[in-house]
Amino acid sequence: YSYYNENTIIYVDGEYVKASEAKTDLYGQSLHYGYAVFEGIRAYKTASGEVKIFKAEEHFDRFRRSCELIHMPYNYTNEELITACYKVLELNNMEEAYIRPLAYCPPNMTLKAASEMNVMICAWEWGAYLGEKLLKVMTSSYQRPNPKAFKIESKSAGLYINSILASQEAKTKGFDEALLLDLEGYVAEGPGANIFFEKDGKIVTPPPGAILPGITRATVIELCQELNIPLEQRLFTTDELKTADCAFFCGTAAEVVGLESLDGQAFAKPWAQSLGKVLQQAYKARVLEKEFDRSSVKVA
Ligand code: PMP
Repeated sequence: YSYYNENTIIYVDGEYVKASEAKTDLYGQSLHYGYAVFEGIRAYKTASGEVKIFKAEEHFDRFRRSCELIHMPYNYTNEELITACYKVLELNNMEEAYIRPLAYCPPNMTLKAASEMNVMICAWEWGAYLGEKLLKVMTSSYQRPNPKAFKIESKSAGLYINSILASQEAKTKGFDEALLLDLEGYVAEGPGANIFFEKDGKIVTPPPGAILPGITRATVIELCQELNIPLEQRLFTTDELKTADCAFFCGTAAEVVGLESLDGQAFAKPWAQSLGKVLQQAYKARVLEKEFDRSSVKVA
């Protein structure tokens, strides 16, 4: 996949520059130690024809918090960076796009002044990151990182080596994606998405603690409340998950995507008849600012 070409414009520290000409310091500690923070955001062409960034405030609140948790000095307002995102979309003639802000550091180990931090924002056109079809998922041999060894609620670059290892393992073994457990062996999340399942008309998802509390996860929880779908946040094992009627991943890049099977065991309900499908369509309607008519989705 080519993320940019010679005409692509990105935001770097208040300036709009060509991606192909932008520079970074090879001695920077972000490159050496993964000491950087990023976000993943989507812009949609909404029902009114306007391009809107979905939950931009929430993403930049998390961006700030991610930086603060690892003591990266943060000196931006949401407004400033959201304006920069829209400008990047406009300068690249993009409507539906994935937006990637990245906060990174120069080669100064102590970082005393906020001015020493860099922020870049780029965007690229990206379809559903895990595809549209149902996923064959395997329980990863990699656990999610120890919450006592790292600020796991910080969307920090270095943490994603864990995600890369888990996805690589799954793909090498012929699966589409991995599912990672926490230190106690409870289900945590996917490498880049949160997990939900449906059982007997109820939706269940792990509570905050060993997961990145996703913004899409929060949206799905809101949709359950609006649609009167009972929802529980609690710990569960893969044994329980395998008895579910359906399961799905959700995240900004993945949106809502159904699971076909876990470790080769298929979920009980056809996706088309699941609450997962209802929530998938409700999510799509929400990001596009369309009315959602639940009766349009047939659930057996
Ligand atoms: N978990 C992990 C580990 C992630 O990287 C992501 C993607 N940011 C998510 C969950 C989903 O988060 P969001 O819905 O905010 O994109």
